[in-house]
Amino acid sequence: MLKKGTKLYSILTGTCPKCHEESMYKDKNPYNMLNIFKMHEQCSHCGTKYKIEPSFFFGAMYVSYAVGVAFGVAAFVIAFLIFQTTLINTFIAITLTLVVFMPFIIRVSRNIWINFFVHYDPNAAKKTS
Ligand SMILES: [Zn+2]
Repeated sequence: MLKKGTKLYSILTGTCPKCHEESMYKDKNPYNMLNIFKMHEQCSHCGTKYKIEPSFFFGAMYVSYAVGVAFGVAAFVIAFLIFQTTLINTFIAITLTLVVFMPFIIRVSRNIWINFFVHYDPNAAKKTS
């Protein structure tokens, strides 16, 4: 399932959405918070510009909202329905989950966002090299 050529691969690994050959990020680890938004200008393999327009990644905020809700619902189900904690503890669990996964959510949202607009092209990497 998680192999090159699938959108899921690019989304989960943060690789170039077009050729999947290299990371879009200068620092692959989203938990190095100082570098979380630092991206390469363009892919050195296929030349794809990651910032399609100046405020391109602004739209990723909408995606991160949806992803955040998904994580919140998952935390709710696990804490309240499976572990049957009290509502207040469930609320704490949801908050903690969102805080802990925030860097991951931010990155994944950007990856999902750019994958809406840029599609995998198996020949992309070869064209410029
Ligand atoms: Zn590329």
